[in-house]
Amino acid sequence: MKVIKEIAAMQDVADYFRCVGKKIGFVPTMGFLHKGHTSLIDKAKEENDIVVVSIFVNPTQFLPNEDFDKYPRDFLKDYFACEKAGVDYIFHPSVEEMYPAKNKTKVTVTEISDTLEGKARPNHFTGVATVVAKLFNIVKPSVAYFGQKDAQQAVVIKQLVEDLNFDLKVSICPTIREDNGLAMSSRNSYLSDSNKDEASAIYKALLEGKKLISENKISDANSIIGKIGEVLKSNAKNVEIEYVEITDNTDLKKIYDLSSYNGEVLISLAAKIGSTRLIDNLVFAK
Ligand code: AMP
Repeated sequence: MKVIKEIAAMQDVADYFRCVGKKIGFVPTMGFLHKGHTSLIDKAKEENDIVVVSIFVNPTQFLPNEDFDKYPRDFLKDYFACEKAGVDYIFHPSVEEMYPAKNKTKVTVTEISDTLEGKARPNHFTGVATVVAKLFNIVKPSVAYFGQKDAQQAVVIKQLVEDLNFDLKVSICPTIREDNGLAMSSRNSYLSDSNKDEASAIYKALLEGKKLISENKISDANSIIGKIGEVLKSNAKNVEIEYVEITDNTDLKKIYDLSSYNGEVLISLAAKIGSTRLIDNLVFAK
C-alpha cells in the first residue's frame, strides 16, 4: 500500500491503471476509520482491481462554528486499517494541496442541497460537492462508494455525477451500526458511554417511524414525525431534536400524505445528545 499526498502523482497513478484497463474503486473519507468505512472498502475491493481511499478532513464543508479543528484524526491508525483491508493507495493531501490560494471554483447542486442538513448547515453541501468533484478528477475512479448513513450526501453526489457527466458509477452502501443500533460515525468518539446508550434511541425511533408507515399504514406524515419525536424523547433524556423529516429519496421533497406516495421513503433525523450532533436515517420502499 502506498500513501500519495500530491494531486499530480495520484493522477499519474490513476492514468496508468485506466490505461492498462484496470478498474479503480474509490472510497472518499475524512479518516478516523471505523467499520462503516471498511464496509465501503470491502465492497470496493470485491468489485474493482485497485482500491483508493482518500483521507482528507475537508475544511470547506464545515461551518465556521463547527468542529473542523477538533474533528478526530489518527492517520497512523487509519493507515493500518487500510493496509489490513487491502487498500492499494491512500490519497492524503494537505489543505494547501487541495485548495491553493488561487483557487476560485465552487460546485453547488441546487435545491436538494438546501433542505434537511443543508438547511441546518448552510453551504455544507457546496463544500462536499466541490471536494468530491475535485477528488473524482484526481482519482479517476470507475466506481465511487458512499454510505447511506449520509442520506442527503448520497442524493447530492448522485445528482452531481449525473449533471456534470462524471464517467463513473456511484454505489451507496448500507449503514453499519453498533450492536445497540447507533449508526457508526467518527463523531461517536465525542460521546460518553451513557450518551452512547441514549443515542441508541435514534435508531429505535426511526424503526418505529418505519413500522408506522410500512406495517400500520399510517398516512399522515406529521403524526408519524410526532411519534418518532416521542419515542426519541422517552428513551433519551438528554436529547435535543433538530429535525425529523419524511421525504422522497431523489428530490428530498416533503411527503405529507403517504397514501398517495409510492416511491422510496426517506426518514431523516438530526439530534443532539449532550453537545454532540448526530444524524441518522432509514430509507425503504413503501
Ligand atoms: P466520513 O469519513 O464521515 O466523511 O465518511 C466517509 C464515507 O463513509 C461516507 O460516504 C459516509 O457516508 C460513509 N459512512 C460513514 N459512516 C458510515 C456507516 N456507519 N455506515 C456506512 N457508511 C458510513
